[in-house]
Amino acid sequence: MRGAVLYGPRDVRFEERDEPKIIKPTDAVIRISSACVCGSDLWPYRGIQPIVQPTPMGHEYCGTVEAVGREVRNIKPGQFVVGSFATSDNSCIICQHGYQSSCVQREFMSGAQSPFLRVPLADGTLVPTPDVPSEDLIPSLLTLSDVMGTGWFAADAANVKPGSTVAVVGDGAVGLLGVLSAKQMGAKRIIAMSRHASRQKLAREFGATDIVEERGEAGVERIKEMTKGIGADSVLECVGTQESMTQAINSTRPGGYIGYVGVPHGVSLDGEQLFFSHVHLHGGPAPVRRYLPELIKLVLNGKINPGKVFDLSLPLDQVAEGYRAMDERRAIKTLLRPNGTK
Ligand SMILES: [Zn+2]
Repeated sequence: MRGAVLYGPRDVRFEERDEPKIIKPTDAVIRISSACVCGSDLWPYRGIQPIVQPTPMGHEYCGTVEAVGREVRNIKPGQFVVGSFATSDNSCIICQHGYQSSCVQREFMSGAQSPFLRVPLADGTLVPTPDVPSEDLIPSLLTLSDVMGTGWFAADAANVKPGSTVAVVGDGAVGLLGVLSAKQMGAKRIIAMSRHASRQKLAREFGATDIVEERGEAGVERIKEMTKGIGADSVLECVGTQESMTQAINSTRPGGYIGYVGVPHGVSLDGEQLFFSHVHLHGGPAPVRRYLPELIKLVLNGKINPGKVFDLSLPLDQVAEGYRAMDERRAIKTLLRPNGTK
């Protein structure tokens, strides 16, 4: 089979790779229905996070089970499944507390931008849908694997409740789905911080009530003006830079909550400033597995349509263009269809 492999900065190749096989008895192999490019793939793509060897790319996936190892009990060939970007046994003490993305047996998935994928710990990592879903639902189900699950975690970690005032820092796919999540959780006011017309439009579709174009200190000023000088109850930090983190902390009211899901790159916090800000800070790699059953239901019932976040769809062999379009911010998020599928 052929799949996407990153060789170095801005060098993604679509090339021959070994077809995945069952290696451990707890593995499954799935046929990928659709794959996509994640905002976090852009860190190594841009060379900000160096790679040591050619790396198969892609960690967001859904598809049909082809084969399972002899110890797999709950997942069966022919089922349609969605899994998290982090594997989990879903049974250790950390999993029981709902932090499956820190499972004692965690591995980070890679290699999903290809026609087939090996998934370790299949019973704990994968969630089957009741039936094989229709084609039009696949993009939304795919988002649950990471980007939507991460936006949901950002909102949950930021303690979004019915009636909350929420600010979302970052207008990438995660930020936009953070808006959708906050709306679903009953937020009354959702302020999306964005200066791109197409992203503002999607933010409004997902439930944003206000748009703020300013950033940094000016952005904080605007949030303060809009909240009687107090700050937002909940702030979702979906970027991972010093500027976005500082902006998030300074936009939160004392006693308020920040859910931070942008992978921090070069972020450091001033202890004294944090102390006097009086904010709750909670983030990390999203425990997507915890949310999968609920989010799958919301998609299948038509309550949410996170697949709208894909504004570019390409055959898998054009994966390099999919990365370029996101790197240049021409696309919010690229959907990749294994060749031969529509
Ligand atoms: Zn575990």
